[in-house]
Amino acid sequence: MAKKIYLFDTSLRDGEQAPGIHLNVREKLEIAEQLDKLNIDTIEAGFPISSKSDFNSVVEISKKIRNRYIAALARAVPQDIDVAGQALENAVNPVIHTFISSSDIHLEYQFKKTRDQAIVLAADAVKRARKYTDMVEFSAMDATRSDRDYLCRMYEAAIKSGAKILNVPDTVGYALPEEYAALIDYIINNTAGIEDVIISVHCHNDLGLAVANSILAVQHGARQIEVSVNGIGERAGNAALEEVAMIIDTRKNDLNVSTGVNLKEIMRTSTLVRHLTGYAVAPNKPIVGKYVFTHEAGIHQDGMLKNRTTYEIMKPEDVGSQASKLMLGKHSGRHAFVKRTQELGFNLSDEELEKAFAGFKELAEKKGEISDDDLKAIVNNEIREVEEYFSLKYYQVINGTSIKSTATVGLEVNGNFAESASYGDGPVDASFKAIENITGMKVMLVEYSIEAVSGGRDAIGAVKIIVRSGDVEAMGSGISTDVIEASIKSYLDALNRIMLSKKS
Ligand SMILES: [Zn+2]
Repeated sequence: MAKKIYLFDTSLRDGEQAPGIHLNVREKLEIAEQLDKLNIDTIEAGFPISSKSDFNSVVEISKKIRNRYIAALARAVPQDIDVAGQALENAVNPVIHTFISSSDIHLEYQFKKTRDQAIVLAADAVKRARKYTDMVEFSAMDATRSDRDYLCRMYEAAIKSGAKILNVPDTVGYALPEEYAALIDYIINNTAGIEDVIISVHCHNDLGLAVANSILAVQHGARQIEVSVNGIGERAGNAALEEVAMIIDTRKNDLNVSTGVNLKEIMRTSTLVRHLTGYAVAPNKPIVGKYVFTHEAGIHQDGMLKNRTTYEIMKPEDVGSQASKLMLGKHSGRHAFVKRTQELGFNLSDEELEKAFAGFKELAEKKGEISDDDLKAIVNNEIREVEEYFSLKYYQVINGTSIKSTATVGLEVNGNFAESASYGDGPVDASFKAIENITGMKVMLVEYSIEAVSGGRDAIGAVKIIVRSGDVEAMGSGISTDVIEASIKSYLDALNRIMLSKKS
């Protein structure tokens, strides 16, 4: 029988550490709920000592998600472990994931500890974590650049102290598949007690080998793979969940392992994470890219029409990816709207439905036909609006090739109307400056990106921005068929988030 491989998702921890990703508690909860539908084994919900928001995310996810293991990260430091234990108080199946580095280069320069001291810290951390839960995972950071014998001694100490999972991170994404597999072999052959614990792998993708290394490690005895949706994570990211799941499914007869992943939820999970993190997915990204099931060359199309298996090793419907259908229009009623959102997997409260339907009507008025992709964008956008301190009442721009762009913007500011005009370098800049005049908030624009949600000239433009105010960074998003309006909405969304973070 195929051996079960556990998938440990770290989108909300390692993924959230990626530059430019800022998820609030509600957004993390939404992703966790989707990971639950995906049938993931473990959700690493955060690093509780690192921030109040991380702590709260672990608390909320522990309360809401009852059928998964919920993990919290902690350095091998007593206070970290206690805080992680507290954050996991409500979890049905809590996991404390504690770590310390095992490489000389990290110990000497970063931790300023001797090898012996680090082993004592590791053992103490695991023991302390065991007071809160039986399920303790120990990671030897930078394992792939560590002295192998020393690494095995550290793992032995962790096992003796009660660790149930030993993680072998390729923290810097440096290992080659064969080297990494050889390290797994070495650990299995040289660590006393290893047969009683699960070996986990955590590979980074700096050289594009994260998934390959993870799969080869499984063939050498690892039982858990740490993954993230769309491969998000520090630097080049982690092993992509969707790739790992589909390799194991597509080649199950050769690998003789299986995961419990509900494959049909893959596309929806990917889309949600793309939306909330603002991290775009390349059109040719395996499994979840826009064009990965599109056959362009004549000879391929010819083969596909005769028999799909000629050029197709996976079917788009297997991962829940279907061609976008034109479904609704401005004459569509509430009933059709509700039905379609349910078919797309949304489970909205009455209040959310009200807002989403209003957003749909507004867009349908402008655009006519609304595709599934449009609909997903509308719903995602409407239900996620943060408390609106600033909201757009109207805007007007004058723009052209030989004149200076000017914008007039009217906002509702905490219930009162205010307006201002400004000129700028293009209509977006002029609008942002007018908003700055009204709000008095000086923020720096860190990133601005725009993406077409669906095809056609009247496609919805989705604008994502990141702004910084002092040491607070906030992400904003806005959609409209009018890209200037989408830009203004995303800017106001980011400002509202800054206001919110100042309050909490
Ligand atoms: Zn990592």
